[in-house]
Amino acid sequence: MSTPQAALAARKRIALVAHDHKKDDLLEWTHYNRELLSQHELYATGTTGSLLAGELGLPVTCFESGPLGGDLQIGAKITERALDVLIFFWDPLEAQPHDPDVKALLRVAVVWNIPVACNRASADFIISSPLMARAYERKLTDYEEHRERMQRQSFV
Ligand code: PGA
Repeated sequence: MSTPQAALAARKRIALVAHDHKKDDLLEWTHYNRELLSQHELYATGTTGSLLAGELGLPVTCFESGPLGGDLQIGAKITERALDVLIFFWDPLEAQPHDPDVKALLRVAVVWNIPVACNRASADFIISSPLMARAYERKLTDYEEHRERMQRQSFV
């Protein structure tokens, strides 16, 4: 049986999210990598996105603010195979009101096997990878068994 795959085009759809105390860090990182980022499509949660668009002068598609559901919107897009990379500078030192959403976003990123960076060093490795500039077939776990599990169970 063949392994399911999903193609990532050379032009990646990158989601960027930063918690409040990490926004400066992300802004600095995006500023430094502006040229590389300009070759891709950028998406972000509301506040992060408007800061980035202002700082970079690049188009950024903004979702709702994170605590208002933006993380979940990004998670939904990952599930639809409509986002390819997640750069998520989450704050390990502060409790977030939307912690379940943060977890959900990180979880679906793993479910759908997209590259995720949760800190600057990982983001550096991802953005400098040769795979960023070319198409890539990402292997997906075969979830058919999970989808069909109810049909195989008997409820007697
Ligand atoms: P924000 O959301 O970009 O709207 O601040 C980020 C988050 O807290 O997930």
